[in-house]
Amino acid sequence: MAALLQRPHAAVLCLSILYLTGGMSIPDPKQREALIKQESSMQTGGQQVLTDAEQRLNARLLKMKQDEVEREEFPPAMHFFKARELIRNSPIFKLLQKMPKGGALHLHDFSMVDVEWLVKNATYRPHCYICFTSRSVRFIFSSQQPKPLTNCSSWTLLESLRAKTVNTTDLDNSIMGNLTLFTDKDPEAVYPTQTVVWSIFEETFQAAYGLVTYAPVFKDYFYQGLSQFYMDNVMYLELRAILPEIYDLDGRTYDRAWTLKTCQDISRQFVANHPDFVGVRIIFTAKRTINTNTMLKVVEEAMKLYRDFPDIMAGFDLVGWEDGGRPLWYYRDALSLPVARGVPLPFFFHAGETNSQGTEIDQNILDALLFNTSRIGHGFALTRHPVAKEWSRKYGVAVEVCPISNQVLKLVKDLRNHPAAALMSENHPVVISSDDPAIFGAFGLSYDFYEAFVGFGGMRSHVGSLKQLAINSIRYSSLTPEQKEKALSLWQRRWDKFVSENAF
Ligand SMILES: [Zn+2]
Repeated sequence: MAALLQRPHAAVLCLSILYLTGGMSIPDPKQREALIKQESSMQTGGQQVLTDAEQRLNARLLKMKQDEVEREEFPPAMHFFKARELIRNSPIFKLLQKMPKGGALHLHDFSMVDVEWLVKNATYRPHCYICFTSRSVRFIFSSQQPKPLTNCSSWTLLESLRAKTVNTTDLDNSIMGNLTLFTDKDPEAVYPTQTVVWSIFEETFQAAYGLVTYAPVFKDYFYQGLSQFYMDNVMYLELRAILPEIYDLDGRTYDRAWTLKTCQDISRQFVANHPDFVGVRIIFTAKRTINTNTMLKVVEEAMKLYRDFPDIMAGFDLVGWEDGGRPLWYYRDALSLPVARGVPLPFFFHAGETNSQGTEIDQNILDALLFNTSRIGHGFALTRHPVAKEWSRKYGVAVEVCPISNQVLKLVKDLRNHPAAALMSENHPVVISSDDPAIFGAFGLSYDFYEAFVGFGGMRSHVGSLKQLAINSIRYSSLTPEQKEKALSLWQRRWDKFVSENAF
């Protein structure tokens, strides 16, 4: 590994520092300026040569950022739930919304669409039943009275419940509250620990499950998800999906191949309707709590799906609370299966979504690389693993940084302190994504771009950084080289239009 540590720019910097500290001379302002320039050129986007129009846009952006920093309440230093309104009304956010952001490479299938759509659209369909657990709700669509569910009240037809309810807005708001972590209350008090926030986070998935897995809702939800990202100027998605069993009114069920095929059909239909959208690829996921035998079966199925659906299947990943689950190494037999059999199955592991330094879980980040992961999901712990960090840089294994997720799930409070600040200061391969926007009360990618650009990007990041992040999202995607080239030229056209319309 020692050889990996010899980066050219590190060597240049060492020489500069030697020169700086070698003699006890008075600091030379020219040398100081050169060092500042050198550092600036090393950051994400530091090598981007800006056109005149981009420079004018940059001046506007930096002025907006300066105004943002001078505000009494600085949104990136606050919990997102408290900051959302401030961000939404900031000029910089409005500009970021218009910006073509490339692809969103770290998203989950059940949290693409805002929960208001789920309540106002999905739950108002006929035959929707609801039951109440001690903490949340469950749903099912059925042509007959459904069979009782363990630990849930008896099923009530939602239509009848609404007919009997005086204030249906209150009922709808209370249903919505079970589908998201977002709260108007003090988030620190509602979610005091990681254990609490993760347990409620997983409850929101359970609550949405019966709605989203109903075949007609599943199709509309997926299409609506693409629409919402498209509206936020995102042109491509890579979606982590559990590919659940989908059901119909009469109780008929459909397997993973059907679900994958359906996603593929809807993605193609969406692209046909929106030619400047590139499409969707799916990363099939399993929970990091299942036993080793089940994992073996799931990996076998993943290899088969990858073979049968090469256009839409991107690969495989493990999901769930990392600190509360099994380490990657626990599944080493199953995860070695593709290589052992000579069958391709790219991995996109969540790894290093933790603050537990030196534990077995903390080891995931190095193990993910050992298993040849194509990207690292979150990689929040990467800066504490110098060998893994160098490996990820050398082989272009990009880190999928999801700032709002990391804050809401309690890895960092003030987003100026996010470790991606260090990664971006040296142009480490990173992309920005939103993980579970609907559950965090966000949408698309713009809020996360705001936190990255204004928060840990600080006054240093500029329009070149934004451009680089968008380009990275295509470069580090699972698209083929030809598809990447096509996507990049599509993106460039949209980018040039965005710059010309906003540089004044
Ligand atoms: Zn995730």
